[in-house]
Amino acid sequence: MRTIVLNNKIIEYDLKYNAKKNVNIRVKPDLTLKVSAPRWVLKGEIERILNEKSSWILENLEIQKQSKKDERSNILENGHSIWLLGEKYRLYFRSSDKNTVMIFDDQIFVCTKKPDDLEYSQKILKNWLKSYAETYFMDTLKKYQNKLINNGYKTPDFELQVREMKTRWGTCIPSKKKVTLNMALMYTPQKYMEYVALHELIHFQEIYHNDHFYGIFEEVMPDYKERQTKLNKEYARITK
Ligand SMILES: [Zn+2]
Repeated sequence: MRTIVLNNKIIEYDLKYNAKKNVNIRVKPDLTLKVSAPRWVLKGEIERILNEKSSWILENLEIQKQSKKDERSNILENGHSIWLLGEKYRLYFRSSDKNTVMIFDDQIFVCTKKPDDLEYSQKILKNWLKSYAETYFMDTLKKYQNKLINNGYKTPDFELQVREMKTRWGTCIPSKKKVTLNMALMYTPQKYMEYVALHELIHFQEIYHNDHFYGIFEEVMPDYKERQTKLNKEYARITK
């Protein structure tokens, strides 16, 4: 291992010579920096290139460090990974003259007018997540509302509220025709979100979690038990 000082930090790197034409720098998931260079490049030249790319190197080392730390959690900060509908995306907070959120492949760019104001930038992301959730949850609820109706269970039209909840995935107040779903369902695979959607809709037929309730569940979603168990096992900490 060789070392170099970049922005007052001592960075170790592994240098290999090969037959390629250019100096190549990679940050590996195990937090090592790998440099490969043609045999004719002087050591001083490699150090100059590392210095030139120091901000890229340090940012990517930080990103790898964070993603190791939060394998499954959702930390809404630059460089962290979040799980949306069960898929992993990496977050990038970027300075912009317009507040917006964009997805490219498995990357989410939060374009923010105040990149140094974390709370402000997180609000932009959360607002985007919320409006995404409102459409996605409502589509799912409508789908299962129709399934219930097709199975002979009258289900009224209802109002949907999406919000962050500490202890529950969702609630239904039949008298107010109101379904509330936890925004954290955005982080789980779709089949779990569907389980919660149907659960709340069945409460329009039955308020209690009794045989009648689960009988309807069985009819409309035969694998509901597996979804219920896995959701609460794998994703319990999200609501904590
Ligand atoms: Zn319930």
